[in-house]
Amino acid sequence: MQTSMLINGKFVDGRDVSEEIVNPATGEVLLNLPEAAPEDIQSAVDAAERAFIKWSRTTPAERAGKLLILADRIEAEAEEFAKLESINCGKPYHLVLNDEIPAVVDCLRFFAGAARCINGSAAGEYLEGFTSMIRRDPLGVVASIAPWNYPLMMAIWKLGPALAAGNTVVLKPSEQTPLTALKLASIGAEIFPEGVLNIIVGRGDTVGAGLISNPKVRMISLTGDIATGQKVLTAAAKTLKRTHLELGGKAPVIVFDDADLVEVIQGIRDFGYYNAGQDCTAACRIYAGPKIHDNLVADLTDAVSTITYNQPVDSDNEIGSLISDRQRNRVASFVERASENKHIEITTGGGFAEGKGFFYQPTVIAGALQTDEIVQREVFGPVVSVTRFTDTDQAISWANESEYGLASSVWTKDISTVMETCARLQYGCTWVNTHFMLTSEMPHGGLKSSGYGKDMSSYALEDYSVIRHVMIKH
Ligand code: NAD
Repeated sequence: MQTSMLINGKFVDGRDVSEEIVNPATGEVLLNLPEAAPEDIQSAVDAAERAFIKWSRTTPAERAGKLLILADRIEAEAEEFAKLESINCGKPYHLVLNDEIPAVVDCLRFFAGAARCINGSAAGEYLEGFTSMIRRDPLGVVASIAPWNYPLMMAIWKLGPALAAGNTVVLKPSEQTPLTALKLASIGAEIFPEGVLNIIVGRGDTVGAGLISNPKVRMISLTGDIATGQKVLTAAAKTLKRTHLELGGKAPVIVFDDADLVEVIQGIRDFGYYNAGQDCTAACRIYAGPKIHDNLVADLTDAVSTITYNQPVDSDNEIGSLISDRQRNRVASFVERASENKHIEITTGGGFAEGKGFFYQPTVIAGALQTDEIVQREVFGPVVSVTRFTDTDQAISWANESEYGLASSVWTKDISTVMETCARLQYGCTWVNTHFMLTSEMPHGGLKSSGYGKDMSSYALEDYSVIRHVMIKH
């Protein structure tokens, strides 16, 4: 197992405080990993700054070539990557291998192609005797800070567009889930010129804070909590860094009376509980029309009670454990507080699952009201609430009454309802009769407190580059 960081093309061991890296599906400590010292953070940023001079002048074809090699290497070593992600996150191995790794590889291949399609708008004479043209150039050193829920995928969502655009990167994975990033370091060292990709490990308030406050960093990209996003903005203000924030979510799922109930149930069962609900787009806040509501609660309860987890044969598992005991306690405390309300009924789940790991039972909370904490706040666990609405206006206004604005979905057979609801929802993404589907060509990102950075798609390349005007006197 690779445990060294990558700084300036060299493998460097952390030398500060050690973090216990745990397998959350068993509670077993996998290793103790020392974090980067302040000097290591500085070395990584210095290396990235030096490497920027050459890397930013490479052709798009050269950068695309490197990204394609990286994609091929990850694909070739998919099983090892999946194994590491599985033991570090408590995820079923077969799901990482078949869902996450192919998406990671595809994302890199997309940005390899997109790198070669970056262009400015046509040149023109806007003042007599002068030609103006637009360039799209990289920014410099990008600090990329990733979360623990999809460690490799989030790292690649950040590295792909940053490197494709010609930036150099210092990546810090979550202190809880560094293993796939460290494997990426060992491969990255063989592919990229020294200093182009640097990977350092450590906690947020030490290594993360040191990295984002470094004056040489020109852009900070974070996927994480709203509170962390606020710290990024404070740090960025001092030297006016560009920021790219992907923060939390609390996705509303509006189910109108005419929706196909079988598809709705399948969709919520799949997309509300995937990754044990530790997903910022999870279909977790259901608004059900007055006629479909009772059947939805009954059928969802039955369906969710059959979700499999913590089975000895990995391929039998549909979801994994939560990331830590702390996260499980947090989820449990949300459910406990919800159950203190007389109007609420926990129709399935609602407790710790048996076994050594940090498993929580897939849970359905019926009878939730719009003002309830369980409807308003992000739980980030396998917990879905159902709230009855009376008409379209109420459903849309309740869906929008949230500090979050990342993902949403609408379930109906009526095209007019689809068009009206999609137009009025204040979310970065709205799915119709589905949820959770992502593709490298389309942007992923939020509104409001969910942040404003766009991952994937050509819009991410725009986020990681800057428009410049060049004017030539004839
Ligand atoms: P977190 O904010 O605690 O940690 C995210 C990363 O930020 C980690 O690497 C952490 O070490 C680092 N960090 C923490 N404090 C820092 C500081 N002061 N300075 C610099 N870095 C710091 O979030 P988490 O618990 O790892 O992830 C869960 C959160 O991420 C949830 O709120 C979830 O909704 C959000 N998320 C959002 C998206 C999205 O696309 N919008 C995707 C996945 C997760």
